[in-house]
Amino acid sequence: MLADNAGSNRRGVQMPDRSVGQVALISEATVLDAPGFTGLADLGIEVVRVPRAADEAAQIESLTGYFGIVAGAEPYSREVLEALPGLRIIARSGVGFDAIDIDAANDLGIYVTVTAGVNAIGVAEHALSMLLALLHRSRAYHDRVSLGRWRDGEFFDELHGSTVGIIGYGRIGRSFARIIAPLDVAILVYDPAILPDLTEVGVTLFDDIGDMLPKCDVVSLHVPLNESTRHLLGARQFGLLPKGAIVVNTSRGPVLDESALVDALMSGHLGGAALDVMDIEPAVVNSPLIGIDNCILSPHISSFGKRTISMMSHLIVEQLDAASRGEPPEGLVSLPALTGRVDPRAAPR
Ligand code: NAD
Repeated sequence: MLADNAGSNRRGVQMPDRSVGQVALISEATVLDAPGFTGLADLGIEVVRVPRAADEAAQIESLTGYFGIVAGAEPYSREVLEALPGLRIIARSGVGFDAIDIDAANDLGIYVTVTAGVNAIGVAEHALSMLLALLHRSRAYHDRVSLGRWRDGEFFDELHGSTVGIIGYGRIGRSFARIIAPLDVAILVYDPAILPDLTEVGVTLFDDIGDMLPKCDVVSLHVPLNESTRHLLGARQFGLLPKGAIVVNTSRGPVLDESALVDALMSGHLGGAALDVMDIEPAVVNSPLIGIDNCILSPHISSFGKRTISMMSHLIVEQLDAASRGEPPEGLVSLPALTGRVDPRAAPR
């Protein structure tokens, strides 16, 4: 329970008397304001689409007066949260909450929720789709046929029979393992918080990422961004991967060192990279990653499958409904025990 009662949070800070009326919708990954989606309207809560602000002053101005924010990946600093006294909940559409100052939310008695559990399979499917497009040279073959050419002796790689390393074996990492397992792949896992007896049969757990990487034909990242995971893969780790290995990142851009990745791709050491996330988003046109043939990119869109968006939207309605009644919603991350600060899953061993 975050709130002991409707008037004070667990630190005893008196919460302002907040009126429940409107929520600001910033995330695009919802259908909360779509015609025919009446979830919040039925609860008497109006959804107002608010564009993402350019700076903190504009963010405060545009978000003042809302009891809830349906957030995307944009940042929420302590300064911003302190300037929004009516705010009761930030419902993050997605599961990454590295951009939100959770300590500040705790101090201010603001619920922060994520849509845990409903996007894992969709994100895993997107990671697999990018990986297969890369291995199967889909882009190059399409271009070739479009130009009136046909086969030219360049074969594609297959996933089946290969060894895949999964870094981060939580909801998405496990979903990814489940969907690639039937392809007869060897699955290796690095996740300091996972106990060997909790891994499924057929999955090999490594204590040391350095022991796992040399065995991987493919490595896929599924960790949150925090201080233990920033640049988890850099020049040294890319060097440990066998020549021709593929890197897949659907987690957060800074989990890998982007310039080291570019070097490893350009030198021919890596066979390719499939990236849904980048250091700078939206990507800048002069990003060195753009234009590398064996690097396939997507615009941080892994959670934007239509079924996933529908499931996330329904969960967000439930979360906002609970918050509007002063009850702790499902998917809470703004409790000290669930933040990266003290969560043993976030700390390196
Ligand atoms: P999760 O919390 O269920 O799993 C994360 C796993 O990473 C945990 O098992 C944890 O122990 C492990 N981990 C933490 N630190 C680690 C480290 N240093 N080394 C190895 N493992 C470590 O989270 P999830 O739902 O699987 O999501 C994972 C991440 O994916 C999110 O935090 C988010 O950043 C990202 N994500 C991206 C998109 C997208 O649109 N591209 C969508 C959803 C999630």
